[in-house]
Amino acid sequence: MSLKSRFCPKCGKETEKLVDSLCSLCYSKESKFNIPKQKNVLQCVKCDMIYNKGFWTRPAKQVEDYLVDRIKKSIRLPGDEQLVDIKLLNEGKSAELLVRSTIKGETIERVIDGKFEIKKYCCPACSREQGIDYTAKIQVRAAKDTDKFVDEALKYIREAAPKVSKVEPMLKGVDIYLVNQRLAKQAARRIKKHMEVVAKESFRNYSWDHEKDRPKRRITILLKQKVRK
Ligand SMILES: [Zn+2]
Ligand SMILES: [Zn+2]
Repeated sequence: MSLKSRFCPKCGKETEKLVDSLCSLCYSKESKFNIPKQKNVLQCVKCDMIYNKGFWTRPAKQVEDYLVDRIKKSIRLPGDEQLVDIKLLNEGKSAELLVRSTIKGETIERVIDGKFEIKKYCCPACSREQGIDYTAKIQVRAAKDTDKFVDEALKYIREAAPKVSKVEPMLKGVDIYLVNQRLAKQAARRIKKHMEVVAKESFRNYSWDHEKDRPKRRITILLKQKVRK
């Protein structure tokens, strides 16, 4: 042990330099930093535009760079510490972010687990182009006696949700477009209760809710007639 070395009071590790009286590893965990756990960039699946600073615009650089910039801007480090760079080790719902900084000549590295992603989306212009004015879609699919099955399902849907915006005939059933999501779910519950079906729900973002600062979601409920053996 050289005269200069010291021990970290937290983990007992021998170190040449203490940062805020801790070894650099303990300091990286104990210090008061503020690194976001969640950031995303929306990108339209149809036109590739991204949502940036309140507008849908054509990206001028890699979309991932926008995500990195956005994370960088919201990082707050303790007083004397300086951000060197950040790197997304992987993106998505369980992403890892490496944040590198320096303090008094010591390099500090922190790996943050979070949700950092480029979200697939449909921008308002593309949504309008498709003439979308519904928030729920119920897909009724028959295994046999399609007409009878569809008529019965439609009866329950009308009872629960009188404001059906559109009914589109399909090969083995119908697609029903509804304005109100809550009523669509209610209709699906009725059908599940009275008819032999398997239900599956899926969601898709279709617009941005500025008031709540989150995407508006459209639900699709698939109701498939059970096949009796
Ligand atoms: Zn330590
Ligand atoms: Zn678009």
